[in-house]
Amino acid sequence: MRFVYADNAATTPVSPKVVEAIIPYMTEHYGNPSSLYEVGQVAHKAVEKARQQVADALGADSKEIFFTSGGSEADNWAIRGAAALGAKKGKKHLITSKFEHHAVLHTMAALEKEGFTVTYLDVYENGIVRPEDVEKAITDETCLVTIMYANNEIGTVQPIAEIGKICRDKGVLFHTDAVQAVGHIRIDVKEQNIDMLSLSGHKFHATKGIGALYCKKGLRLPNLIEGGAQESGRRAGTENVPGIVGLGVAITDMCEHLEENAKKVSALRDRLFEGASKISHSRINGDTEHRLPGNFSMCFEGVEGESLLLMLDFKGVCASSGSACTSGSLDPSHVLLSIGLKHEVAHGSLRLSISENNTEEDVDYILEVLPPIIDRLRSMSPLWDHILEEEKELN
Ligand SMILES: *Cc1c(COP(=O)(O)O)cnc(C)c1O
Repeated sequence: MRFVYADNAATTPVSPKVVEAIIPYMTEHYGNPSSLYEVGQVAHKAVEKARQQVADALGADSKEIFFTSGGSEADNWAIRGAAALGAKKGKKHLITSKFEHHAVLHTMAALEKEGFTVTYLDVYENGIVRPEDVEKAITDETCLVTIMYANNEIGTVQPIAEIGKICRDKGVLFHTDAVQAVGHIRIDVKEQNIDMLSLSGHKFHATKGIGALYCKKGLRLPNLIEGGAQESGRRAGTENVPGIVGLGVAITDMCEHLEENAKKVSALRDRLFEGASKISHSRINGDTEHRLPGNFSMCFEGVEGESLLLMLDFKGVCASSGSACTSGSLDPSHVLLSIGLKHEVAHGSLRLSISENNTEEDVDYILEVLPPIIDRLRSMSPLWDHILEEEKELN
């Protein structure tokens, strides 16, 4: 049986280049970057090289890059930090969207309990925030706008530069969770007026547990972890040297091949859409144009998402119904509900996220196994019978 990994939005395999680059930092270059002797200084130089690589990938300065344990930590730091700065000036209003990652939404919920108010912007049927809505929502009390760069479930890419411009003009801080975008879409934090940006290594072939926050010069966020002088004293703790080295290598590699990868990956993704759209009672979730190259997201009526995933797994296909973080709960994804899908439709969702490691054969295999699985699930589903009966009545 074939094995097809099509869940690259959940995590990616570490690339051989990254593996090769990080091994020496676990063996001969094991020093603590803060130590003054040679093995320490070799590690220190490697950390600073990676910081420069991350900065280059974003159009930032290396002093603006702070390593974190990943995307969730960077999101928490940016949002809580901006909220704390705002509160000092009596500004306790934040703006975000309804379909952010839980690292953002749960931070917002916690802040609401602490007395902040939060506006959750609509993302409409196409899964895209409207810049004019951001503009209208900003008040004198607003201390932060945070809108994700690209959605992790339906892949829609947001008008980040326009939102950035509005925030800059209004003097409001702008953060973006770019975890799904970095390495896949060209980003320039200066051109796009981004004040803070979160990224995570394991979404683009670096290791898990490493990420970064870009925080523009002059914006002094409160320290996240008190202790030593690492990360300019703002996030103490001995650096994850192998993780950081791998992050630098991975981001450089992805940015060097970005257009070429996007072309290949989006062609595979479109082939999937074309094939799967032939299945009756199916729909594509989110805008088809402003979309991550590798994101496929569809709903199949009369199908239960979890069963669909299990049956795909039996056929060797790794897929997801929404985000890995919500699986295990029976509620339909907040993302699919935010674009107006009914609960029963949202339950039948399938996300496939393609990477440059996938092939046409992978796609054709998915298209071979998917339709019979859906037929089989529908044949066992009372919901499907109900859908067909309702249609008969209408005709
Ligand atoms: C994966 C993901 C995160 C979380 O990143 P971790 O490094 O796993 O903490 C945050 N936001 C988005 C959009 C993601 O896809």
